[in-house]
Amino acid sequence: MATCAVVRRPGRGRLAVVGLGPGARDLLTPRAKAELRRASVLVGLDQYVDQIRDLLRPGTRILESGLGAEEERARTAVEEARKGQAVALIGSGDAGVYAMASPALAEASDDIDVVGVPGVTAALAAGAILGAPLGHDHVSISLSDLHTPWEVIERRVRAAAEADLVVTFYNPRSRGRDWQLPKALAILAGHREPSTPVGVVRNASRPDESARVTTLAALDPATVDMMTVVTVGNTATREIAGRMVTPRGYRWQEGTA
Ligand code: SAH
Repeated sequence: MATCAVVRRPGRGRLAVVGLGPGARDLLTPRAKAELRRASVLVGLDQYVDQIRDLLRPGTRILESGLGAEEERARTAVEEARKGQAVALIGSGDAGVYAMASPALAEASDDIDVVGVPGVTAALAAGAILGAPLGHDHVSISLSDLHTPWEVIERRVRAAAEADLVVTFYNPRSRGRDWQLPKALAILAGHREPSTPVGVVRNASRPDESARVTTLAALDPATVDMMTVVTVGNTATREIAGRMVTPRGYRWQEGTA
């Protein structure tokens, strides 16, 4: 006589945090594509889900949500992975840049595998359109004071101004947030010439992409919205043939290397 009990143990779950790039399909990496195809559960904002729906396997469970609800989205992704699912948590650009990777990994325990797939972040997509604005040291600063006190943001803008860093502003301006960008530009103008080149790129790599190079003095903040990044040059950045160019700054000619 023997009694036998059989239990099915779920496999170890997997959470892939996948950056979709700025929009164009050919800026989505092959590795991101492979992770989307592997997923049994997809978690993300509805607008990003639409961007890649055709790449999913039939039967993939899609848990989409609207703007906000970031923590809930992060928790859902981790919970599904802990049940043994292969979860892809998606975000635009790079999913670790002002996006879902941090809230998700803050929830994640060591009983799941976590894989990050880097994506082309907006600053890089915009940089390639503008020319070579990021040729020397640069920072990204988000002007959204939704989760960060303005004093903290302003301190960082000041530090970037003093350190002569090229600055890319993410989340530069929205309907309810219109004074932050002019304020930030004024701080930079305290340390840079009015003629300093400024690149404004809207919807990089999307069908309605637009870009222009202007100056600190001439930029009209009203032309900037949430689909835009603004890159302000350092004191060496020049506009050359309509393109924004920040010199490498190495002393190539002197032979001192
Ligand atoms: N994870 C994203 C950034 C999210 S924050 C990334 O890595 O790109 C959202 C902000 O990113 C927007 O307000 C805008 O400033 C910028 N952004 C994202 N995609 C963009 C695009 N295709 N063109 C221009 N700006 C973009």
